[in-house]
This record gives sequence, C-alpha cells and structure tokens, in this order.
Amino acid sequence: MRRKLAAGNWKMNGTSAALSELEALARNFPSSDIDILICPPATLLHRAAGIVRETSVSVGGQDCQAAVSGAHTGDISADMLVDAGASAVIVGHSERREDHGEQNETVRAKASAAMGAGIKAIVCVGESLEQRETSKTLDVIADQIAGSVPDQSTGDNLVVAYEPIWAIGTGKVPSLSDIQEVHDFIRTLLDQRFGKETAQSVPLLYGGSVKPDNASDIFGVPNVDGALVGGASLKASDFSVIVKAL
Ligand code: PEP
Repeated sequence: MRRKLAAGNWKMNGTSAALSELEALARNFPSSDIDILICPPATLLHRAAGIVRETSVSVGGQDCQAAVSGAHTGDISADMLVDAGASAVIVGHSERREDHGEQNETVRAKASAAMGAGIKAIVCVGESLEQRETSKTLDVIADQIAGSVPDQSTGDNLVVAYEPIWAIGTGKVPSLSDIQEVHDFIRTLLDQRFGKETAQSVPLLYGGSVKPDNASDIFGVPNVDGALVGGASLKASDFSVIVKAL
C-alpha cells in the first residue's frame, strides 16, 4: 500500500570525493523494492543525480525556499532542485528550525513549494528533550503536523519524518514503544485531517541515531515505513545495511 523509504541526509558534509560513496550505494542497489534517497549538499546535487540515474537510488535537497524565484540571496527554489535532478526535499529539519528560526508557517510554505514543483516534501517533526521530559511530546507533534503539513498533501507528495531532537546525532534512541506511540499518533492526526485513504498512504519515517545495528528493530515497529538517516548515510557500507534491513 505505502512504499518504504530509506532516506539519507548528508547535511553539510561532503565535497566531490564523497560522491564515491554514492557510486558505491548505487552499485549496491541497481534495483530495489523500496525507495532509496540521498540528500547531499546542494553543491553536489546535480552530479549526484547523474551518478544514480537508472538505479533505484534517487537524490533530493535538504531545504528549499518557499518562493519560486527572486531576491533571496543564497536560497534555492524547489524548481531549481527539480532542475538539478531532485525528486524530494527535506523541510523543517530541526537543525533548520533551530539554526534559522524556521517556524511551522515557513516549513509549510516550503513543503507547499516542493509539492507545487512536483517533488515530495519530507516534513520533519520532533520534540526536544525538555519537551519529552515534561510530557509535551504529543502536543508538540500535533502542533507541528497541524502547522507544517500543507492542505494539498497526498500519499504521493508527502512524507513525514519523526525525529526527536535529542536523538539526532547523539546515539540515543527512544524506546520502540515510544517510537510506536508517536508514529501511531501521527497516523491518527493525518487520518483526522485528510481521511483514511490518504493517511494510510503517507510514509512515516523515524529519524535519530538510526544505525546498522538498530535499524531492523526500529523497522519492526508498526507504522514505521522507513528512516531518515544522518551520520550513518555518509558511508555506503553502513547505509546499505540499513536499506537491507527495511
Ligand atoms: C538527521 O540528520 O536527520 C539524523 C537523524 O541524524 P542522525 O542519524 O545522525 O542522528
């Protein structure tokens, strides 16, 4: 019914030499039943798209500007990502929310722009450690889903990534039951807003310290349809193990 997705976020890591890792990944997966996505730095996107052509790996952006074009120095539009070969873009990553003060409204506009350009928006949500410790997780997730997910979302253009901020790059992972609680909750929120058919077709990714040795346990959790992977996506050998676990 809904497709599984293993997505890698290289963040601000990698110059030309890193493309050898993408070449290795593409060699490992000439064809696959699941979707495999790597989001390299924007500087590598066009070359990355050429490398993965005619394999089961695709490439995406890490962010986009909500506007179609214009006076936004340093920004990249969704159309530009498409032109460079992207099939998806991450929006609302907690590092964007924190480093650039992005609020839900901005994230929603970016997701809308991506959908308008014909690529998938991977909308990230997740609580801070303080919010988890004060039992605010579900309230935060509800607020972020309501504010960041556009009305025109469908199973074809939306992916939601649940990424607890305290689990990103820390080696800490929520318990499997905590992951399930949030994923079930997100599915319910999507159901209430978009109806069952759409809600059931949107892939929900878990992100936060997914590694080769914990991936299969996490993928066994109901309503987890894949992962958004940071550090462990930088090496083809590590990411390939994660892909195979899905
Ligand atoms: C991320 O970058 O979204 C992420 C989850 O990072 P890591 O896998 O390194 O925790």
